[in-house]
Amino acid sequence: MKAVVTGGAGFIGSHLCDYLIAHGHQVVVLDDLSTGSESNLEQLRGNPAFELVKGTILDKRLVSDLIGESDTVFHLAAAVGVHNIVDKPLESLRTNLHGTENVVEAAAAHGARFAVASTSEVYGKNDSDGLTEDADRILGSPLKSRWSYAAAKGLDELVAYVYGTETGLPCVITRFFNIVGPRQTGRYGMVVPRFVSQALAGEPITVYGTGDQRRCFGSVFDVIPALVRLLDTPEAYNTAVNLGGKEEISIRGLADRVIELTGSSSEVRFVSYSDAYGAGYEDMQRRMPDTGLARELIGYEPTRTLDDIITSLVEHRRVGAPHPRVAVG
Ligand code: UDP
Repeated sequence: MKAVVTGGAGFIGSHLCDYLIAHGHQVVVLDDLSTGSESNLEQLRGNPAFELVKGTILDKRLVSDLIGESDTVFHLAAAVGVHNIVDKPLESLRTNLHGTENVVEAAAAHGARFAVASTSEVYGKNDSDGLTEDADRILGSPLKSRWSYAAAKGLDELVAYVYGTETGLPCVITRFFNIVGPRQTGRYGMVVPRFVSQALAGEPITVYGTGDQRRCFGSVFDVIPALVRLLDTPEAYNTAVNLGGKEEISIRGLADRVIELTGSSSEVRFVSYSDAYGAGYEDMQRRMPDTGLARELIGYEPTRTLDDIITSLVEHRRVGAPHPRVAVG
């Protein structure tokens, strides 16, 4: 495989690069290093099968040139992280809408296989028990910038889907549910790395709202092989596939778990949503994936427990690995 990975310097993207290189593939990363970091790819520097191109997916010509020399595209570049998106709505929209259009268009023009990383955010406020891929989207007002990410990623899926059905582009859409792992930073939101950093520093753990909201965290090490396998599975083309974990926990419960696993003396501090994100923020109360379709298509079965996931982050920080500065997905 000669793969282009957009957003390859990000948290999920860099793990994908590691995986592809370890499996004998060639990889070119296109990343603007806005939230990604070169340090995430340090282990691949000098590897003849690997190249990092610093540039933006908004550069149509660059995108087309790189994809023209490849047979596979993993499109992970996006403006991500709730804090980031709320702070920079216009930039986020541009990247997530026009950038994706450029990448899909080039993949279709050059006959490359195409996978796009989407997100459980597309379900919006639908808090059903076990969201299946055909579940309704319940989004707030488009005038609230908080929803711009969900709206843009929904359109990304649609663009990919339409290219897939109309041009025959082999196209995989994965919806990642709160994926966590080493190299992920809490700088732009992302609750698990935030809590781990706070716990290790002995600082208060900032639980937003009541902490009764629930999430199901998945391991990057479970979803990367699944993403690659889906591209080898034609039955997975032109549909969206949920990928995530299976243990649900409240955010308050997560804070307690992180404190216990780190042996931290941090206290839990409740922060109002308006103090955390600004006025008018709406949180999702619950987001639980049904991963039955991924199981049916590729035998997907997440193997890492929440404790494994938290521990892998703690160990990564403790051994003094390159400081993770990245948040993607
Ligand atoms: N959250 C929190 N404290 C933080 C960061 C996030 O309580 O320091 C909450 C956030 O309000 C949400 C959950 O943790 O209910 C997951 O947030 P994240 O940004 O990781 O993902 P998403 O909101 O996209 O599920």
